Amino acid sequence: MIVKRTALTWWERLYIPAVLNGFRVTLRHFFRRKVTMQYPEEKWVVPPGYRGAPYLVKDQDGRTKCVSCQLCEFICPPKAIRIVPPGPEVDPATANVEKRPREFEIDMLRCIFCGFCQEVCPEEAIFLMEDYSLTGGSRSEMVYDLPRLLALGGTHHDPIMKWQQKAREAGLQGVKP
Ligand code: SF4
Ligand code: SF4
Repeated sequence: MIVKRTALTWWERLYIPAVLNGFRVTLRHFFRRKVTMQYPEEKWVVPPGYRGAPYLVKDQDGRTKCVSCQLCEFICPPKAIRIVPPGPEVDPATANVEKRPREFEIDMLRCIFCGFCQEVCPEEAIFLMEDYSLTGGSRSEMVYDLPRLLALGGTHHDPIMKWQQKAREAGLQGVKP
């Protein structure tokens, strides 16, 4: 289909009205109160429920809550998550309670902050934090690995402490699950 291009009128070709209109807008804002923030020292307070960058968390015993089920990797629309499960080299003493990932990466350049990973996680191990200032000097810097994701996520209180229960069931008293 050919779209007919409408020719500019004489008034439109003059451009002066458009320029004057621009000045009018500038003048209107010139006398208004300004909100200048000294970013990054000052940051916006984001509203509750804000979906920022996803990070991994540990429980109050310092255990990685993620159990490498890979549901988040499967559900992630832009395929921003890459997980390598623990594999057979895991400590046999804790093999039946320890499934923390060997590698866990999130490509923050791909992430669209949809929150699906947080919603699907059965362990409450991944959360979208109130963090909107993601910066990096290169693409590779924006791929967050496991230690970085855990450091940023911090500790989340786990009232159930499933690990202790599982360790007890497996007769692993003395071994910190
Ligand atoms: S927030 Fe969405 S896009 Fe980002 S890692 Fe989670 S599932 Fe993937
Ligand atoms: S973060 Fe949650 S959903 Fe993703 S692999 Fe770990 S336990 Fe599974």
